[in-house]
Amino acid sequence: MKGTAAATAAACTTVVAAPPEANALQRPPKPLPPEAVGLLYDSTLCIGCKACVTACKDVNHMPPEVGPEQQAWNGAPGNPTWDTPVELSAKTLNVIKAYVHGTGATKDAAENGFAFIKRQCLHCADPSCVSVCPVSAMTKDPQSGIVSHNPDACIGCRYCVLSCPFGVPKYDYNDAFGEIKKCQLCKQRLAQNELPGCADVCPTGATLFGRSDELLKEAKRRTALKPGEYTHFPRGDIAGKVGGARSGHEKLVEAAYQTHIYGEKELGGTQCLAVSAVPFDKLNLPTKVPETGYPTLSEGIQHTLYAGMIGPAVVFGGLAYLAHRNTKDHTEE
Ligand code: SF4
Ligand code: SF4
Ligand code: SF4
Repeated sequence: MKGTAAATAAACTTVVAAPPEANALQRPPKPLPPEAVGLLYDSTLCIGCKACVTACKDVNHMPPEVGPEQQAWNGAPGNPTWDTPVELSAKTLNVIKAYVHGTGATKDAAENGFAFIKRQCLHCADPSCVSVCPVSAMTKDPQSGIVSHNPDACIGCRYCVLSCPFGVPKYDYNDAFGEIKKCQLCKQRLAQNELPGCADVCPTGATLFGRSDELLKEAKRRTALKPGEYTHFPRGDIAGKVGGARSGHEKLVEAAYQTHIYGEKELGGTQCLAVSAVPFDKLNLPTKVPETGYPTLSEGIQHTLYAGMIGPAVVFGGLAYLAHRNTKDHTEE
């Protein structure tokens, strides 16, 4: 009895191990692939022409979207002539949005000014959409880093829609056979040595294609520029290789760039970057996000749980074997 009581007391006083810290559960962040490509969007160069929106629709065979204000454009009810998507959707994979404050008089001014921002898939280094997809329909290319969607493998669960911190993948709820849609960086065009549609048509170089490391270098150069400096802005492909060389232009820097390069650090980094003179929170991009992707923690916890299940699984397997053997012995008797 004494021994039993002592054992019970010992069991009661056993210190229960504290749950591991969240950091201890995190798996290491994933770096960008060696040949990562993306876009650099410079809001100060953007004139809001939306040629990139139209080109995106054109090369990806997406139908126009007409807002209610444009239904009777030019006094032609039922015959709208103005395609003006205002948000990403299953029909619009790239959109230009406007920021306006006060009088809206000055371009690239946060006070009494206006500015533009381009919204599309950022092709994250460690994408949540890929991490949550249960059937690997959303994948990240190990070389180019392009995040793309395979509709043949997709089961329509929409986890990717919920998981994306930037609200990018969209599902077409109006279509009985709706699919997930998002920018795939025109990978079909890149395979033909053609530029993504948006970078191809952008007249000012506000949307520039290139290797992600070269784009980041260019973004750092721009954010170090001061108003009054005269500098060169390339167009098309920053290296002049994809889509053929094309001339850029010299331009006076008019507005002071923010030092923040959007996508350099957000959620472990993204292959599409943005620079701007207006702070990114005013342009409605999420700025209060961690510097490591959410999958570092969610996958770290999953792997820890699975690893913790190995011991019980071995014990259970052993017990099952013993039970089977004993039953067999008993039957043979
Ligand atoms: S922006 Fe969203 S959809 Fe695009 S790669 Fe990142 S998590 Fe995926
Ligand atoms: S909707 Fe399709 S792509 Fe998105 S998580 Fe589900 S299976 Fe994957
Ligand atoms: S084509 Fe270029 S300048 Fe025109 S809206 Fe798009 S990013 Fe801006």
